[in-house]
Amino acid sequence: MLEIRELNKVYRGSGRLVEAIGSVTFDVAAGELVCVVGPSGCGKTTLLRCVAGLLPAGGGEVRVAGEPVTGPPPRMAVVFQEYGRSLFPWMTVRQNVELPLKEKRLPRARRAELVAGSLAAVGLSDAADAHPWQLSGGMQQRVAIARAVAYEPEVLLMDEPFAAVDAQTRADLEDLILRLWRDLEVTALFVTHDIDEAVYLGQRVIVLSSSPTGVMADIKIDLPRDRDQLATRSLPLFGELRGQVYRWIQQARGAR
Ligand code: ADP
Ligand code: MG
Repeated sequence: MLEIRELNKVYRGSGRLVEAIGSVTFDVAAGELVCVVGPSGCGKTTLLRCVAGLLPAGGGEVRVAGEPVTGPPPRMAVVFQEYGRSLFPWMTVRQNVELPLKEKRLPRARRAELVAGSLAAVGLSDAADAHPWQLSGGMQQRVAIARAVAYEPEVLLMDEPFAAVDAQTRADLEDLILRLWRDLEVTALFVTHDIDEAVYLGQRVIVLSSSPTGVMADIKIDLPRDRDQLATRSLPLFGELRGQVYRWIQQARGAR
């Protein structure tokens, strides 16, 4: 579903060149959930923006369902880290979730159905008429997830979506993502700097090196498909995989 081939990205600004992505190559199969981890500043957000068609690639190619990405691909949704800035404060929760569906030109009845369904899925049916600023951080992030889900994407990209919420909310949101991913059979690329989160969520974990980034390791996560915050995290295999990713990250910080 996603093919990233020798992707390169150099930022040019104020006479200075920053090579954020050296060369990145990997695939994500349809229906797979792949986590991307790497040191802070290594180019994870840049990678996601190139895949989302929000930034032009410098070199190489990104394909979604076989089509080269030249702008935001149809049937792709993105959840950003900064949910505070990704929701419109003057719109209600319902209006925020509905907006992309209007842009998709769906009929009113279908829009209402999708909005109600996705707000129910994230447990926010009662907050439909609230404004984002009346909600907690975790609730705002659930609105952003509901908006992405209502869009019925084939591909879901997430950029450190839980970085700013407390530990319990984060665990709840992780399980919400797993449930939605299974129910919707969506292809997902999840960026995080949290090793435990990557192993808990992913079917594969890709470790990126420091900027200019490349793929250091591509680790298959052979944990049972049904994950549980307590049971999965206490499996010996979970500890082994987490150690494996940790060692790669240590190397990634050194590698340039
Ligand atoms: P990450 O998400 O892994 O923390 P980013 O993709 O945000 O990393 O950034 C990768 C590198 O590119 C960093 O060195 C960062 O300073 C640089 N960078 C990011 N965005 C820009 C930009 N718009 N202009 C110039 N440099 C940028
Ligand atoms: Mg980032």
